[in-house]
Amino acid sequence: MSTVTARSSIDDAAVIGLRESFRGEVVGPADTGYDEQRKVWNGSIDRRPGLIARCAGVADVRAAVRFGRERGLVVAVRGGGHSFPGLSVCDDGLLIDLGLMKGIRVDPEAGTARAQAGVLLGELDRETQAFGLAVPSGIVTHTGMAGLTLGGGIGWIMRKYGLTVDQLVSVDVVTADGEFVKASDNENADLFWGIRGGGGNFGIVTDFEFRLNPLGPQVMAGPVFWPMEDATEVLRFYRDWIGDCPDELMTIVVQRKAPALPVVPPDLVGKHVVAVAACYAGPVEDGERVLRPLKQFGHPVLDLCAPKPFLAHQKMFDPSFRHGWWYYFRSCDVAGLTDEVIDIVVDHGRRITSPITSIALWQMGGAVARVGEEETAFNGRDAGFTFNINGNSETADGFEAERQWARDYWSALAPYHTGVYVNFLMEEGEERVRQAYGAEKYDRLKALKRTYDPTNFFRLNQNITPD
Ligand SMILES: Cc1cc2nc3c(=O)[nH]c(=O)nc-3n(C[C@H](O)[C@H](O)[C@H](O)COP(=O)(O)OP(=O)(O)OC[C@H]3O[C@@H](n4cnc5c(N)ncnc54)[C@H](O)[C@@H]3O)c2cc1C
Repeated sequence: MSTVTARSSIDDAAVIGLRESFRGEVVGPADTGYDEQRKVWNGSIDRRPGLIARCAGVADVRAAVRFGRERGLVVAVRGGGHSFPGLSVCDDGLLIDLGLMKGIRVDPEAGTARAQAGVLLGELDRETQAFGLAVPSGIVTHTGMAGLTLGGGIGWIMRKYGLTVDQLVSVDVVTADGEFVKASDNENADLFWGIRGGGGNFGIVTDFEFRLNPLGPQVMAGPVFWPMEDATEVLRFYRDWIGDCPDELMTIVVQRKAPALPVVPPDLVGKHVVAVAACYAGPVEDGERVLRPLKQFGHPVLDLCAPKPFLAHQKMFDPSFRHGWWYYFRSCDVAGLTDEVIDIVVDHGRRITSPITSIALWQMGGAVARVGEEETAFNGRDAGFTFNINGNSETADGFEAERQWARDYWSALAPYHTGVYVNFLMEEGEERVRQAYGAEKYDRLKALKRTYDPTNFFRLNQNITPD
């Protein structure tokens, strides 16, 4: 087996050969569109691959893997390009882009859907919601389904139905040798276990088969906003209120400056606010009843929680996370919202300066916690809450200050950290990856890596090293 080393030049004859055999598109630095094709979602990442292989199908993926392997190239794999630290693009080397692979097939009778690796969350929702069905996924429609699923997948209906990985029935995988294998509970079960949380460490997943769940299409959902000055009372009320809420209810606390959006009154724009965004995955009337106490608490400055199509709710955060802005994240799980944790949240929320910086504090539990910890590689099913602290700026201007704010917020929470969701990590080193999986699971994942990718060909990810 060849070793994987960085190389900036890929010989022209080989590129011509790859181009001729390819159904998709092979884009080099001199080609039109190269700059567009090398972009990822996070504008602070600026990398220049030696070659971009835009695969149209499994045959292209296999050809690209073999091409990279035979030449000892560094290889990046891109689904939706939303990796926070930009792990889906490399300098030099080969970028295997799956973005053209958009096939989706819903089988309402079997209650399953198949989706190819280039599908975005909103695309999958659009097809499944046409039948009143859904795969639990994430909360921003332009996120890639592939990367999100491979790390776990948390979102609005997980407390009712589980994580995205919990819906997987089977996957098709191209391994580091360019071989095609299937994985499910009955076939390559060890690989199937690892893929459900272990990220892109074991191969390129080209096709995902999911179980579907009934949903909506109308749901009771949306955010209620209060002034940040009321945050202590709001968060203490919120903690007690969700203490015995049904699994149908999922909430995310948001802190930010009120964004300049058509739904936000002009006099509120730019003011510090705390919001509880909710989604009730059940009958709208039940949702109205369950959410009434929240809507009636204190003096909300804006209430956008109302019956609406699930597809509309899924788009709510899209304008807050545009492509090309500069993003920096810190994340951790905590067991509960103690008064001490709430004090930290309130204190740091008030210090937000950028109009696009925010935190999302995710309520976990429900169906996520009812799957056994050993059943999948995803770790942290008993997390109480997941913090996603993001310091953002539109350009490089002011980015360092936002990063510092995020680091300070995260450090203040350090005494309460219980773990971290692997898909919310930046490039934080091996120890943090180990923390994300826990020592025991990490060792099991390493053993699996030795079986499926002993040379660490797939290394641009939250890397589980084989050694
Ligand atoms: C705006 C935004 C919103 C988000 N919201 C949520 C959310 O609600 N819930 C949640 O759980 N997470 C969320 N995330 C985090 C998200 O899960 C990760 O960023 C995820 O990696 C995105 O997947 P992608 O395909 O877009 O990423 P990419 O950047 O394309 O890939 C991420 C990693 O996965 C690997 N990879 C991608 N596709 C494949 C494949 N087919 N086979 C093998 N490896 C592959 C890549 O090599 C890379 O290492 C969000 C991220 C962003 C930027």
